[in-house]
Order: sequence, then C-alpha cells, then structure tokens
Amino acid sequence: MRNRQATQLLFEMSRPGRRGASFPPSDVPEQPLSQLIPESQLAAAPPELPELTEPDVIRHFVNLSTMNMSVDTHFYPLGSCTMKYNPKRHERLASLPGLVDLHPYAAEESSQGMLEILYELQDMLAEISGLPAVSLQPAAGAQGELAALLVAAAYFRDRGEQRSKVLFPDSAHGTNPASARLAGFDCVQLPSTDDGFVDLNRLREQLDDQTAVFMITNPNTLGMFEREISTISAMVHEVGGLVYIDGANMNAILGIARPGDFGGDMMHYNVHKTFTGPHGAGGPGAGPIAVRDFLADYLPGPLVTKSPEGSCQLQHPAKSIGRVRSHFGNVGILLRGYCYLRTLGALGLRQVSEHAVLNANYLLAKLKDVLPVPQGDRCMHEFVATAKPLAQDRGITAMDLAKRLLDYGFHAPTVYFPMVVPEAVMIEPTETESRETLDAFADTIVQIASEDADFVHQAPHETPVSRPDEVQAARQPILKWTPACE
Ligand SMILES: *Cc1c(COP(=O)(O)O)cnc(C)c1O
Repeated sequence: MRNRQATQLLFEMSRPGRRGASFPPSDVPEQPLSQLIPESQLAAAPPELPELTEPDVIRHFVNLSTMNMSVDTHFYPLGSCTMKYNPKRHERLASLPGLVDLHPYAAEESSQGMLEILYELQDMLAEISGLPAVSLQPAAGAQGELAALLVAAAYFRDRGEQRSKVLFPDSAHGTNPASARLAGFDCVQLPSTDDGFVDLNRLREQLDDQTAVFMITNPNTLGMFEREISTISAMVHEVGGLVYIDGANMNAILGIARPGDFGGDMMHYNVHKTFTGPHGAGGPGAGPIAVRDFLADYLPGPLVTKSPEGSCQLQHPAKSIGRVRSHFGNVGILLRGYCYLRTLGALGLRQVSEHAVLNANYLLAKLKDVLPVPQGDRCMHEFVATAKPLAQDRGITAMDLAKRLLDYGFHAPTVYFPMVVPEAVMIEPTETESRETLDAFADTIVQIASEDADFVHQAPHETPVSRPDEVQAARQPILKWTPACE
C-alpha cells in the first residue's frame, strides 16, 4: 500500500504553528532584531518554510528513500555502469575518524597516513594498468578522459607538433567525443565491422600526421575483447599518435590483461564502477588516469611521491597541465577502492573478472532465444542483446521490457546504447550475483516476453510514477513547486 506521506510534499503537509522541537522559554531579555542587524539587511517577512513535526519529516524522507531502486535492494544489471555490490566494510573503513576528519589543508607531516594510502593506490593502479605513472586527481571517468587528452595535447605541443584529430569507433561511449571536443580536438568516428570490432581498413584510411589520439574501450562497448588491439596500437603509433584506453570495462580483465601491455599509452579507471564506490545518478566518482613514462611530466597534480627516508609528499609534475580537482581528488571513493584492492589482492582481483565474465555468459546463454546477441554468442563481463525480434513478433520493445522489469523488482538494463545495435538491451550482471538471482532475472524476461503487449506498454504498474515524458522533462523541466491553489 502506498504511503500518502511519501507522495505529498513537505510544503503540502505543513500546518501553521506545527513544530519539530520545543524549547524552554527564553530567560534572556529580548532585543528587537533591528538592534542586532541593520534594518536594510532584514527581510520583510520570514521565509515560507514548511511547519512540521519531527516524525512527519523522518517518515517523509525514509518513505522517499524506499521509492527508489539500489544495489542494496535490487539486482541492478545496468550495462556499462558496473553496479556491483558495495561491501559495507569499505564504508566503515572509509569513515574512520583519522580519515574523514582529516582536513585537506592539514600539513603534510600530519597527513602521512592518508598520503601513504594514496601513494600505495597510485602504485597498485600502475601495476594493474601496466602504465607506470598515475594521477588520482580526476573526479570521474569523463574527467579522466579530458585530463588525459589535455596531457596528450601538452605532450604534442612540447614536441612542436600540431595534431588535430581524435579517432574513436562508433560504439564509443558519448563521453569520448565530448572529451575530445572539450580538449580542442576534431572528432572522427569510425564505423565498426559487422561483428562489432574496429575496422582496420577504415582506421588505416584515417591515420595520418594529424592523428593525435585513438580512443578505444577494451573490452569494447559491445562487451567483446578487441582481439586486434596490439595491431591497432602499432598502427596508431606508426603515425606518431597515442592510444587511449577507456577503462570503464576493466572489470572484465583485472589481473588478466593490462592496457599498457596491449599498446595503450593512457587510460582512466572508474573507481566507482570497477572498485566498488557506491555511485548512481551522476556521482560520486573517481577517475584516476595512468600513462606511459614519457607522459608522466604532464599529469595533473599533485601526485604523491616518497622520499628515500619513506615520508610522503605532494608534488606537481614538472610540466603539469595543472589541477583538475581540489585537494587530492575524490578521497572518499579512492579510499573505498583502496580497501577493495587490499582485501582481494592479486588473486582475488583476477577472480572478480573471471566471475563477472562467467555471470554475463551464463545470462547470455539463458536469454539468447528471447533476446539474441547480434555480435556473437560469447561475451566478456557484459553483452548487448537486441529486442528487435520481440518488438517485431510481439510488439514489446526494449523500452517496454525495461519498464516492465521494474514491476518484478529488477532494475532495468541499459537500453538503446550502444546505438550500433537496434533495440539494444545491454546487460551487465557483475560478479557479486548468485546463480539464483541470475535465474530469476532470466525467467522474468522470458515471462515478460509472453505477456499481453498492451499491458506491457503501460508498465510499470507498481511504481509511484509510471512513464514520465522523458523528452518534455529534459526540454521543459519544471524545477519549482507551485501550490495548487495559486
Ligand atoms: C561510465 C563510462 C564512462 C564515463 O565515466 P564517468 O565516471 O561516468 O564519467 C566512459 N566510458 C564508458 C565506456 C563508460 O561506461
């Protein structure tokens, strides 16, 4: 049963004079406000705030919190986003008073514990990527991309080279071209082959002395490992360009393959995806970047370095592009990632990827009769299926399926991305799900595929809001509440 209080606004629940706390009468003489604050600074009337009791407020927010879906409450197979479970131990460790209460302007001598953690994290991320120099500064994957492209621009400028182009495949995440434009480059999109890989001939046509960077996600956005990656890297290097690996899909290859070993010169991590930072709705994140030694001098600072005596310092690289974020980066997420890496160790990390890939392949096999996968019957940690046959035969689209899954208590997969697959349904189960959960999810999709199409068009039926007009919400957002009586 829906709770009325959860759907009413605090302003609507307000009653004049209702209070959340009571205080004893004042025992100091009252002074007119105008004697304390100049008249010109005083408002004519108090602000119109809702007047409520404490239980009103608590119930309102607790009920609101149950109207959403989260990794803690639901299976969340949102492809590309790696919504894995966030172990609660990391929350406890990241909340230790010595860490949360540390002031970002505290002197280096009194921040040695934090700096040591960040130093070790830089080291581990360098090892996992096979790229020796790491900056923890960027606050998200997208900012990591931008920072790395600015590093590339600074590197070429330093060499007296003018290179204008950034290339990427048509399956690339939207942030890749956006970052390239922001960094001042022209974007060149390459069509993929029918089986979803980089088309080497099209790549060869575009490669020239104007090529600054080739950006690629590997495993790619279709959930497949780009087997020709070493050849691709060699081709880009031959014309003097750099290879950027979008590391959002690192969950598939941890401890198995390293971007630095397959030709990458720069990459970003999404610590909030791969290393269990709780995230969603745009944050919070951390997007450290790792680069080859000849790019290290340009990294955004400060980096943490260690003196021969073992004390840590903050240092800006010699030709740094400058800061991209305040202080040492998004420490809250970095700490959780550090805990994750230390808990698992090298062997555990490899198992993470093995299980993520196993879970995805299990689901792919269970679903392919209803949701075929155009680009192959094997995948890495995620796969992109198509609801096109379902739409043609039964009139149930990827959007309908996504909406109906909510009624069954599953978060929807990513739909309509990447755009190279029609009616795309992008499923990423992550390693932390049991076989029972995967079975229940697959059975539900099979069930929905046989439901009455009109009923599915109206879904979700069980959520507080059903199908908002997404276009109108984006074009004409209503950001201010107006009372109905006005
Ligand atoms: C999530 C993602 C990004 C962007 O990362 P943010 O941390 O959300 O800025 C870039 N590329 C791919 C492939 C992604 O999945």
